[in-house]
Amino acid sequence: MRNWYIEDAGGGCRAFSEVLVLVCEQPRRIYRRFLPLTWDKNITMEEMALHKVLEMMEEAGATRDDYFYVCSGNIFHGVHRWLTENGYRWETIRMEGLAHEVAENTFQQQITAAGFPAAVKLEERNYREFYKMVDAWLKEDPARRRFVKDMTVRSKPAHLRYLLKANAGSTRLCSRCRKKILPYTPVVQYRFREHGKKKSRFYHPECSPVKPHKNRLQTAHILWNNNFVQGVILKARETMPCMVCRRDVPAGVAAVHARTDKEFIFGHPECFTQVDDSLKREN
Ligand SMILES: [Zn+2]
Ligand SMILES: [Zn+2]
Repeated sequence: MRNWYIEDAGGGCRAFSEVLVLVCEQPRRIYRRFLPLTWDKNITMEEMALHKVLEMMEEAGATRDDYFYVCSGNIFHGVHRWLTENGYRWETIRMEGLAHEVAENTFQQQITAAGFPAAVKLEERNYREFYKMVDAWLKEDPARRRFVKDMTVRSKPAHLRYLLKANAGSTRLCSRCRKKILPYTPVVQYRFREHGKKKSRFYHPECSPVKPHKNRLQTAHILWNNNFVQGVILKARETMPCMVCRRDVPAGVAAVHARTDKEFIFGHPECFTQVDDSLKREN
């Protein structure tokens, strides 16, 4: 059995290929791959990274008897899924040691080879500062544009950015019908970037232009003063008493949130009489 470490470097830099490494410390084995600067847009970055990691695993002769420590970064989400689905033993860690060193050094060698001053190095994992300097260097000479990565193939495809979830306490405006999305009702959130800023659009589930890729919605159909009320399960934002048993629901714990015309309903999910959909329809 061997312990393998899977790490990347350069993901936050807008130029130069990301470096992926597969490393074993004992016995010492090092495998490296680079993501291309651009590729076929039908392949996601997760898929591309998985492809490279599988190549390295095959070359290394890694097996299910081995154990894998994998960086938790988004780039490896496809790898995480693949390892689980294929019965490998693995966990995520914050990478230290040989794998981290090899990945960072390989990335650094790559940019030094392109002419970036060798004396400027990443210090104390201050990536922001370092990538800013790389950015400034890129801008000095238009010819250096050839090192810039294609960000469109690296960004998540739009249809994977829709998430079905519970709206929290604020009223939102539906981006399609322009009507209100009430607190504690289902909402579809579309997350995107505009000029580098993270933004969101919201839709009623029936107004969403695509079927949401992820579902984090938990609904609660409860009986309240002999009326059926539809609410959602959300983590309590602050500690508040349950309206049924009067005991506190600590902040961060899953709780029923619902609203009627008159009031806000809150409490332990187990304290309410839950009514499932089929029963509700009979009434
Ligand atoms: Zn709508
Ligand atoms: Zn309670």
